[in-house]
Amino acid sequence: MDYVLRTKGLSKKYADCQAVDRVSVTVNKGDIYGLIGENGAGKSTLMKMIAGLVEPTEGIIELFGTTKIQEERYRIGCVIESPALYEELTAEQNMEVFRKAYGLTNRESIHQILEMMGLGKAAKKQVRKFSLGMKQRLAIGIALLGNPDFLILDEPINGLDPTGIQEMRNLILTLNREKRITIMISSHILSELSKIATKYGIMKNGRLIDEVTEKDIATKCQCCLKLKVSDAVKGAMLIENRLHSTSYEVAEDNVLRVFEYVDNPNVINSLFVQEGIQVYECSVSQESLEDYFNEKIQGGNRND
Ligand code: ATP
Repeated sequence: MDYVLRTKGLSKKYADCQAVDRVSVTVNKGDIYGLIGENGAGKSTLMKMIAGLVEPTEGIIELFGTTKIQEERYRIGCVIESPALYEELTAEQNMEVFRKAYGLTNRESIHQILEMMGLGKAAKKQVRKFSLGMKQRLAIGIALLGNPDFLILDEPINGLDPTGIQEMRNLILTLNREKRITIMISSHILSELSKIATKYGIMKNGRLIDEVTEKDIATKCQCCLKLKVSDAVKGAMLIENRLHSTSYEVAEDNVLRVFEYVDNPNVINSLFVQEGIQVYECSVSQESLEDYFNEKIQGGNRND
């Protein structure tokens, strides 16, 4: 598959603080990759290493299929931490300063980008009169000046009011779907990320504890029969061989999650009892996205 970013065992240590610990992520072309984790989980540090703002202690970064990342970094745009804007200048002047600083020739793109950011009418307004949401959008506009294929946004919705959050969400979706920009976005607000992310990386204490696609999550959160049994492996074989279904998964602690027979649990129950498997618990379960993440965050670390 076409990937834009792959890290392998990427780590950053500050004195005695292991900010990022052997993180391996894969961002595929077209993804909106949501990096989720509590404050201090290591999200910003990971993004800074990818963007080249912080030197990794160890590990590998591959961009657009190559480890020659210096040659590919021009294809990345990023907004990490507070946007560094000139408050006394207008939006247009800010864009112009950065266009020159980046050595870009295309002046026309400034107006197109400001329009796209919803800042067309505010182009000649001083940035100090901007709301936080407008400043965030301007910072993203500046990051778009180099026409990036991959955009890294660190907590772009932090501190925004509900309207600002909605505008930011729409903007991110437009950039991804219409401009075909692959995006990595960090947040500690799951409910917001879940409206846009196509893949998630869950971070805790510097480690990546899970990486799942939107599709995986939809499967995991679909309605199922949850059976706690004496032998889940034997139960799984029976489901396959006798019921001819592969629509199940074996979870930890001899728990089976079966995505069929939800309305007719007796079929499975009787089969198991008949074949000597003890059924300790049988319930219909539907995990929410929030349950899934909380379970992961509270649970152990992923082995890598
Ligand atoms: P937040 O949302 O609060 O920024 P985060 O998930 O982005 O959280 P990081 O900012 O990457 O987390 O920080 C991870 C850990 O590394 C924290 O314990 C932080 O204190 C530490 N850290 C980050 N930058 C530095 C630095 N320059 N020097 C020392 N420690 C640092």
